[in-house]
This record gives sequence, structure tokens and C-alpha cells, in this order.
Amino acid sequence: MANPEKALELSERLTADMAIRTPYDVAIVKVFNRCDIACSYCYVYTGEDQSWRNSPPFMEDDVMKATAERIVEHGDANGLDRMLVVFHGGEPLLAEHTRPGYFGRAVGMFESAKAVRDSPLTINYGLQTNGQLLAANPRWMEMFARLNMQIGVSIDGGKEANDRDRLSYSGKSTHALAEAALRLVRQYPRLEATTLATINLRNNPKETYQYFKSLGVKSIGFNLPHATWDSPEFAEGYKGRLEPTGYGQWMCDTFDCWWSDSSRPAISLYQAIIRLLMGQPTKLEYFGPSIPNVAHIRTDGAIADIDTMTLSSPDALELNMNVFEHSLDDTLSHPKIQARQMGELGLAAACITCPVKDICGGGYFAHRHKEGSNPNVAFPELAPYLNPTVYCADLYQLINHVARRLAENRMTYSLMVRGGRGMSGIWRELVDEAIRNRDARIEKERLDFERVFAKK
Ligand code: SF4
Repeated sequence: MANPEKALELSERLTADMAIRTPYDVAIVKVFNRCDIACSYCYVYTGEDQSWRNSPPFMEDDVMKATAERIVEHGDANGLDRMLVVFHGGEPLLAEHTRPGYFGRAVGMFESAKAVRDSPLTINYGLQTNGQLLAANPRWMEMFARLNMQIGVSIDGGKEANDRDRLSYSGKSTHALAEAALRLVRQYPRLEATTLATINLRNNPKETYQYFKSLGVKSIGFNLPHATWDSPEFAEGYKGRLEPTGYGQWMCDTFDCWWSDSSRPAISLYQAIIRLLMGQPTKLEYFGPSIPNVAHIRTDGAIADIDTMTLSSPDALELNMNVFEHSLDDTLSHPKIQARQMGELGLAAACITCPVKDICGGGYFAHRHKEGSNPNVAFPELAPYLNPTVYCADLYQLINHVARRLAENRMTYSLMVRGGRGMSGIWRELVDEAIRNRDARIEKERLDFERVFAKK
């Protein structure tokens, strides 16, 4: 479907039941609904949606028990082998701080829910923290090691880089404690120290990469700052694929540091691009063509759309469902979830005809929003998201850069040539170009040889 008019025509006939009903295999469980620091880019506590003020500060035991039962029920009903449960906030460690033993009890409830049903489901547990309370309570790590809980620490880089956006409520640096927390997690190799950093263009990309490398982290997650087409910096609207904002170059620069590093940590975004270029599937909600499959349960037991949806409007994530009355399967029939699970059908015409569509997948769903756009589309929950992501030109730049870097590498080049059938379009174009160049070189060598031979 490379014809933009056909794509437009189809988008006007889209309905919710065309969604690709995909079970959740990740559940974000909000255990604490307040935070102990005040990041400038936070879309929850400093955003338009202040509904968190009406929710209980932490998830009570009866809500956690029902949440655990619903998640196990969902895994079993959909035949899943494995699910990931991420305890999130606000700052989730405020739950342990307020009620010691909170996470031990929470994991116990999940394991009991499995035992009651004799469920074969494996649940992996994770927690994302700003590190402040963990650094102050190092003994908690023994508990997390016992619970086999993966700990991700949010930190944006070295002190200067981190403190541009991640300060306490009183404006103090949060860097020393975040770094101490990361060093603490590193002492438990089975738990794998991971970081999550939001990109700030004022931070030097090479120094940022080297900083995380020097801490010996196993994995780095780079996030683009959350924005929509109604955010002031994107108010001029879509200018096509060729006008990057600077984030594309930032990611190309860190990609080059990473790619030339022989002992590189994992960077899921770059690895996902490489896998997709090689024709292999990935599961990354943030990027790529896979169908989003993350569930979100709030402290009061409400099952909601993921909370970045509040970027578009304060009530965008409300589904009016909860773990006491609804299963997670019920939410898959909600038009808001169906809008996110439309897959390729839910892409803008510009994306459907884009040469890197199979890699980019239109970018992060929440970043495509523009209020009032696509008024002719019959599916109202999808209409404002039928746009390319605000980072379209940056992702286009990054994907092309990664593809070219791979094509320069002898080993990946030969893998490309051998495995060419499953490759995505842009990758195949690069291979074809390389083969044409190789054939031209062989032909030139043959002619040179013949000329030499003829002289003899
Ligand atoms: S958002 Fe991605 S798929 Fe869509 S036009 Fe831009 S680069 Fe292409």
C-alpha cells in the first residue's frame, strides 16, 4: 500500500474492530503516586493532568491482591509463558519507605495468585527508581536480590547533565544519590544495573555515553522528551522527514560511540533498529512496528491507558475500568486501547509510504497526537493520532545512519547478503547498492585483466 491516496482513503474507513487485539505482556503497576524529586520534564506531577491528587498515595494490599490475580488471569487466558511486572511511581520506593516489607508482600501476592490457579506463568519483576531512597537504604538491596527484582535507576548523565532537569523540590542536586544507587545495584551482577536517561540536547552525547560506560552499567535506555504536535516547540507542524530537530544527530553521535565500542552495554533503541533492519522482530513500545502491549494499573486499582497519553489531554488515559470489576482482557475491547493496537492500519499516510516505516513504525504513539487533526476519520479515538511522530525527521535520520554504519561493516554486510530475503526495504536497497558496487568492481577488474592479458 505505497499509494498515499489509497492510505488516506482507507484511514477514512477505519473502525475500532480492525485493531490487532494483542494481549499485554508487560504491566506497569503504580505502587506510589507521589514523587520525592521534581524533574522539569515530568508529565505527571507538573503536567496538566492533576488527577493524581485525588488518587490514594499508595496501592493498598487489597488492590495489590486483585491486581496480581488479574495479571495472572490475563497471562493464563492468553497462553503467555512470561510477563513482566514493573513497579512504578511517582517514586515506587516511597512505598517501602512508608510501609516496610511492601515489595516482599507484593511479590508474595503475585506468587500466591499463580499458586491458586496452578498457573505455569513466569513473572519477572522490575522497579524503576530515581535512586534517592535506595542510596539512603542500601540494605534494601538484599531484599531486592532475594526477590530477583531488576532495578532501573533514572539518571540523565554526569552531574551537570543530570542536574539540568532532575533536581529536588528545593532545587538541590539529585545526582550523587542517583549515582550511588546505581553503584549499589552494580554490586549485584544477577540484577543487572540499568539506567534510563532522557535526552537533553545541551548534554554532550559522547560524554553522556562515556559517563554511563564508566559506571559499568549493563544497559542504557535513552528516551526522547515527551511532546506532541501541540507542544510549543512543534507548533509549526510537520515539515516532512528532512528537517531533524537535533535529537536525530544526538542519537547518531551516541550510536557511533556505542557501535565502535568493543565492550558495549545494551542500548535497546539501537539494538531494536539493528534487529529490524535484519528483518527480525522486536518488542519495544517506544518505537518500531510491534503492537503496544503494556497495561497500566493505578494505585486505586483503575486499569488505565499508559500515562504518557495525558500529554494529549488530562482524561485521555481514563478507561473507567478497574481490577475489581474488569479483567485485563476487557480493556482490549476499549476503543482507546484499540486505537493504540491498530498497527500499520493506524499509521498516517506519510508513514505508510515512508521507506523506513518497517523500522520506525510511526514512532511512539503518544508523540503523534495533534488535537483536531484528521476530522474525516470515522474512528474518533484514533483520528488525532493519525500523524507521524513529532520526532519523525530525527528517527528517519537515525535509521538511515544506523543502516549505513551496518553496511560499512564487513561482517554485517556478509550477513546481509546471505540473509537478504527477510530484510526490510531500506536494508535491501543498501545491499543492492553494495552488490551493484561489488559487481561493478569485479567487472572493472575483469576488464583490467583482459587489457593486461591482451597486451601480453
Ligand atoms: S514517523 Fe517514522 S514511519 Fe512515519 S514518516 Fe516519519 S520516519 Fe517514516
